[in-house]
Amino acid sequence: MNTENLGFNSKLIHAGDYQDELGSAVTPIYQTSTFSFKNAQHGADLFAGKEKGYIYTRIGNPTIEVLEKKLAELENGYGGVALASGMAAVSTVYMSILKQGDHMISTGAVYGPSRGVMETHFSKFGVDYSYIDTSDLRLLEETIKPNTRLLYLETPANPTIQLTDIQKASEIAHKNNILVCVDNTFCSPYLQRPLDLGADIVLHSLTKFINGHADIVGGAVIAKKEDLYHTIRKAMVYMGGNMDPHQAYMVIRGVKTLSLRVDKAQESAMKIAEFLESHPKIEWIKYPGLTSFPQHELAKKQMSGFGSMLSFGLKGGYESGKTLMDNVHLATLAVSLGGVETLIQHPASMTHAGVSKADKLAAHITDGLVRYSVGIENVEDLMDDLKQALDKIHS
Ligand SMILES: *Cc1c(COP(=O)(O)O)cnc(C)c1O
Repeated sequence: MNTENLGFNSKLIHAGDYQDELGSAVTPIYQTSTFSFKNAQHGADLFAGKEKGYIYTRIGNPTIEVLEKKLAELENGYGGVALASGMAAVSTVYMSILKQGDHMISTGAVYGPSRGVMETHFSKFGVDYSYIDTSDLRLLEETIKPNTRLLYLETPANPTIQLTDIQKASEIAHKNNILVCVDNTFCSPYLQRPLDLGADIVLHSLTKFINGHADIVGGAVIAKKEDLYHTIRKAMVYMGGNMDPHQAYMVIRGVKTLSLRVDKAQESAMKIAEFLESHPKIEWIKYPGLTSFPQHELAKKQMSGFGSMLSFGLKGGYESGKTLMDNVHLATLAVSLGGVETLIQHPASMTHAGVSKADKLAAHITDGLVRYSVGIENVEDLMDDLKQALDKIHS
């Protein structure tokens, strides 16, 4: 079906559709590692690229291809590549674009492992990098070197909810022949489409909003232009970070309700943010939908909704954080985000417990910081849960 001119919700359901000869209503799982050739010539033509078809699942598979086409259409890109995890997507982008002697500029508060793999592995191959506050466009311009090849943005960044102006940052990058990649995990294409704003590559941890049910990990990269798409696909095929057909089936199933889930969760997030903003045990709260959010105008400009991720600071720091964690009952105490269930975590005692005080300070991760991923439970129940847990904190 040609879905190019359909609306976003129709694309969620139908883009990339594969019609098999049995007329299956949903995409079947082609759980096979390899595909047989009709004869020697057919095999030769497939390898030579003279005929379209499937050879081997790491290179291509009908179930995975449905997901790749769907995601590419949702992000308005030329083509998509699905991978085993979000981190496989991140390292495949680095591998595709960067070579020895190149320099990368990235958001300081980027997802930890996206920085970790650069600092511990890509640095061994002579790739140089600068982690800066990319929301500061003057600083971005000053950080560009003659060998800067990639600007890798995450917006909103995790867990500080800091935004970078994708359009303006892309203009600066392109003037200097630098490619722009945006990690769009926090927004999903429903709320933000970086390729439309000027980026060259967009990537996702499908584990979060796109699959949305906390039951698989997965990743994807979508390129705006054909040549970049082929470069990235080649790196995936050689590196072997491919997705599995069953994983692809799960994500195809999950993504169909993306807009319904996100609408419900962000409506609740707004109510919870307003409730927390006026709560006496809360020192500060960051949610792009609040008029008190410093980058509220930028959020309105580049996002079509404010999402369902909240960060807030508790008075009383570390101990208050632990007390809250031990007393919430409805919210699940877990890392990750973007699922139908509400998740809560305390970076100082959990994800960032091993980070030095100085690095935590630089990344604005305070001892009282709590990250809250709003799910689709009844908002009254979520607020009651938070209310009674906040009451347990001694002020
Ligand atoms: C989770 C996450 C990743 C990594 O994805 P995995 O699927 O866990 O490998 C990358 N970026 C962001 C913003 C994330 O939240």
